Amino acid sequence: MDLYEHQARELFAEHGIVVPRAEVTDSPKQAREIARGLGGRVVVKAQVKTGGRGKAGGVKIAADPAAAELTARQILGMDIKGHTVGTVMLAQPVDIAEEFYVSYVLDRAAGRFLAIASAEGGMDIEEVAATRPEAVARVPVDPAEGVTSATASRIAEAAGLPPQTVDVLVRLWDVLVREDALLVEVNPLVRTRDGRIMALDGKVTLDGNAVFRQARWGADDAEHDDPLEAAAAAKGLNYVKLDGEVGIIGNGAGLVMSTLDVVAGCGARPANFLDIGGGASAQIMADGLSVILSDPSVKSVFVNVFGGITACDAVADGIVRALDTVRLTKPLVVRLDGNNAARGRAILDEHRHPLVEQVSTMDGAASRAARLATTP
Ligand code: GDP
Ligand code: MN
Repeated sequence: MDLYEHQARELFAEHGIVVPRAEVTDSPKQAREIARGLGGRVVVKAQVKTGGRGKAGGVKIAADPAAAELTARQILGMDIKGHTVGTVMLAQPVDIAEEFYVSYVLDRAAGRFLAIASAEGGMDIEEVAATRPEAVARVPVDPAEGVTSATASRIAEAAGLPPQTVDVLVRLWDVLVREDALLVEVNPLVRTRDGRIMALDGKVTLDGNAVFRQARWGADDAEHDDPLEAAAAAKGLNYVKLDGEVGIIGNGAGLVMSTLDVVAGCGARPANFLDIGGGASAQIMADGLSVILSDPSVKSVFVNVFGGITACDAVADGIVRALDTVRLTKPLVVRLDGNNAARGRAILDEHRHPLVEQVSTMDGAASRAARLATTP
């Protein structure tokens, strides 16, 4: 789960990283009052969970409280890369001498964290990284060791950052660890004309597995990363949206993961991960199907069930009853095996839905679902 900039900066401040004074509002009139309280001149910043706000016109300087109200009115409601601006943050402007980039990110492949830092931060960091990768330092961080002052000095040196940033780098690591984050990023981290180091922007991605410990951020989170994931979560489903075209429902995380692999092996791409666990009830099946069918990129659905404690006839019953409430619009390939497979298959055969077909092996069913999804 991503945090808004104003939430990220709250965490930074709690960990002793200096941030400009700022306040958040959804009202232009209140923006004027806030600007007055902050000394008149302010930076007005769209609060959306996406980067590149500056380039999209979502970060503007306002010279006085009246201009702050006007600018807030312009930015509120603006669409930035598909995100509607619901609140703005007004911040005391800072005289920037230099802009740096610093972040810690989980490097899953290496089983470590990675510090990424550059003395050329700011809005063009992506371009710097693409055209002059040598200007961006990448320093591995051992998760057990963490970032000590010694590590932080190495990161600063590798990136050409001034020594005053070492303290910030250590504190930023504390944010990552103590706040259950998988990514913390400050861009820009600035040196001000009067020599202070301040975080002018912040991105924090919390570990989804730790969200129960981070309840303080949940309450005002109207904006979800993916609307289908939000709908599925509301129904208590274990659903992850992926990029492909074959919708997948299975029982048990292990079976679902291998189903993703087998579908990929057949030349199609999975559209999602959906584990119905031990639940074969018509309700869970209907909920799962309706989430998957409302994903426009889904071209076929593969239901792969190995009956164990939950027998295949119960799953087949669940599918049949789900089809009473969900209008099937795409072909459904079902593979039932294990406990009571024969009874389960018979139930689906009797029901004879024109869009439902059964294949008895996992490989065969995957290849059928893949073909249905990839042939026009
Ligand atoms: P982003 O485009 O979404 O990353 O938004 P940022 O918060 O990083 O703002 C974009 C740019 O606006 C920064 O790179 C800064 O150059 C500039 N900016 C942001 N806050 C201030 C400020 O307080 N003073 C000045 N002078 N510029 C700022
Ligand atoms: Mn930024």
